[in-house]
Amino acid sequence: MTVILDGKAVSDKILLELKIAVAAALETTGKDPGLAVILVGNNAASRTYVEAKKKACHEVGIMSFEYKLSVTDGQAVLEKLIDHLNADAEVHGILLQLPLPDGFDEQAVLQRIHPDKDVDGFHPFNMGRLAIGLPALQPCTPAGIMKLLEHYQIATEGKHVVIVGRSNIVGKPIGLMLVQNNKNANATVTICHSKTPDIGAITRQADILIAAVGKPEFITADMVKPGATIIDVGINRVPAETKAGYKIVGDVHFEDVYPLVDAITPVPGGVGKMTIATLMATTLQTFRKQEGLPSA
Ligand code: NDP
Repeated sequence: MTVILDGKAVSDKILLELKIAVAAALETTGKDPGLAVILVGNNAASRTYVEAKKKACHEVGIMSFEYKLSVTDGQAVLEKLIDHLNADAEVHGILLQLPLPDGFDEQAVLQRIHPDKDVDGFHPFNMGRLAIGLPALQPCTPAGIMKLLEHYQIATEGKHVVIVGRSNIVGKPIGLMLVQNNKNANATVTICHSKTPDIGAITRQADILIAAVGKPEFITADMVKPGATIIDVGINRVPAETKAGYKIVGDVHFEDVYPLVDAITPVPGGVGKMTIATLMATTLQTFRKQEGLPSA
């Protein structure tokens, strides 16, 4: 029987625990954790993610501050906003919704966020610490995947993990997490990308296959090893006869792959839910540090 790795159920449990922890932190400090979310432009998918993050904040008791900028505001206004939020004591975490529209220097903005408020873990300070195995604020999607694997007791030690996609947001950091020398990692990691020839020959070796490609149903049944664990990070809108005119599919051809494997994440209801729950957990973590509470 294939196990569905139910990100919704696991994230619901995490959010419930966080709600209790946030209430306790409020009682101790008299303060609410605050998360600032910045959206630049009008990308429909980004708007949906920002709404989902706001909803999760509301659910666990984190204050959410939303900042909407238009494309014409430009880099200088965005950087000024970051400076303002870095200095704002009510804001414990700053999330810049990516991707930024064309014309913005994404790295310059990410590097302007104070590392202590960098809830996405994209600042080189945090990414560097992650790389060398020191405690750091970690990117939410990879950290959420690690939690999901842990929840389902899917061991990674000694396993061959193949990651398709080398972005700074997903592919590289999940590779860094899994290759660390500790019992929750210790995997042998291969990262593939668009210049990798014959990807199927590599993905077929994977005990755990992580797809973060951004191409609908890219991973087909002939690309997986029977009995593998499949983590589908992809969120792709494809045209469909629904009210919205589209449906969401992953980077894995779920229907064909599902019968072959031991475990698989659904899309939606898999990694995406874990990403948001992890963002909430990281915001509480930054709050605790900034308000002088011991780390949980
Ligand atoms: P990026 O576009 O930044 O990276 C995609 C990666 O896939 C790149 O490394 C690219 O290679 C590689 N790639 C593209 N085409 C191919 C191909 N034909 N063969 C092999 N590799 C290929 O995407 P992200 O990492 O930001 O996101 C990936 C997916 O995950 C998207 O669907 C996104 O929406 C989703 N996502 C989901 C999240 C969640 O919470 N579930 C969070 C973040 C993203 P190269 O570097 O050579 O160009």
